[in-house]
Amino acid sequence: MHYWKRIVAVLVLAVAVVTGANAAEKKVVWKLAMTWGGTLHPFTTSVENMAKMVETMSGGNFVIRIDSANRHKSPFGVLDMVKAGQYEMAHSASYYWKGKDVNLLPFTSMPFGMTAPEQYAWFYYGGGLELMQKAYAPHNMYSFPGGNTGAQMGGWYRKEIKTLDDLKGLKMRIPGFAGEVLAELGTVVTNIAPGELYTALERGTIDALEWVGPGMDIKLGFHKVAPYYYTGWHEPATELQYLVNQKAFEALPENYKEMLRVAMRVAAYDMYALNYHESAQAWSEIATQFPHIKIETFSPDIMNAMKAANQKLLKEMSDANPLFKEVMDSQAQYLKKVRVWTKMSDFDYLKDNL
Ligand code: CA
Repeated sequence: MHYWKRIVAVLVLAVAVVTGANAAEKKVVWKLAMTWGGTLHPFTTSVENMAKMVETMSGGNFVIRIDSANRHKSPFGVLDMVKAGQYEMAHSASYYWKGKDVNLLPFTSMPFGMTAPEQYAWFYYGGGLELMQKAYAPHNMYSFPGGNTGAQMGGWYRKEIKTLDDLKGLKMRIPGFAGEVLAELGTVVTNIAPGELYTALERGTIDALEWVGPGMDIKLGFHKVAPYYYTGWHEPATELQYLVNQKAFEALPENYKEMLRVAMRVAAYDMYALNYHESAQAWSEIATQFPHIKIETFSPDIMNAMKAANQKLLKEMSDANPLFKEVMDSQAQYLKKVRVWTKMSDFDYLKDNL
């Protein structure tokens, strides 16, 4: 009897190894920290979708528990928490880390840079993803695209911005490289956690802010205190990120790694579609519900000054940081090629069909 039991056990093991069933049954529980509060749809919904896909694909064996900023209380601490292994994953935006490591800045969106389809092409097929891993390697982390907002609105201003002088001394929340550009033009720039934006604007801690676009902005009520809503220049394709602790990822069975990669990629692209839909939907309602909102576009003078400041700062930062330069050169070369196609395809179609 004993002999037969051993034979059966060996056979079961052999079948499990051949089919991969053994690895698929490994129970893994991860924790993910979001920069966002628990109700910041669609960012939070996208993360929940990703975790649900992983759980379903693994037959309930790979579980990712999500902590919002309401729970861990450290919206901008998530990079350090993943680095330290306190969380295996985070959902955030790479440009928030410019103060820690400038090489992490260019993987969200750059002023006057690529649109979302162009940037996705760069990430997945134009070398962007490889450069992102190169930038994150010194931090023992991987970073993956985590959902795109599409072109963002330029922000909410209490007062109309008519000349460059109106930007001087203005206190504004604006992250990423765009913040550097506005600082160059005399704006007092700050970054504030998403959960505190409305209070900061309402109390006058800041005079202006940019957040995302109609779908997300209107729920936060900025229009009540700052009725001038400017079109964008600064974030033409904001890609959020999944940060993953390298050691934790490498310890996963191969099939779980693939489930995670696939779930992140699908959830990211789905958020792009969802946010596009919700911005269109929200704007169609806002335009009639809040007729006092004034849609403005920065004057050519202001735009040209922003472009000049952008070029100057890009050069300075590239001269001082070889990896930053490598990423910016890659983006610039890719943009040069891909924009010709964008113009021939989407742009030429749209200009005659608006
Ligand atoms: Ca933004």
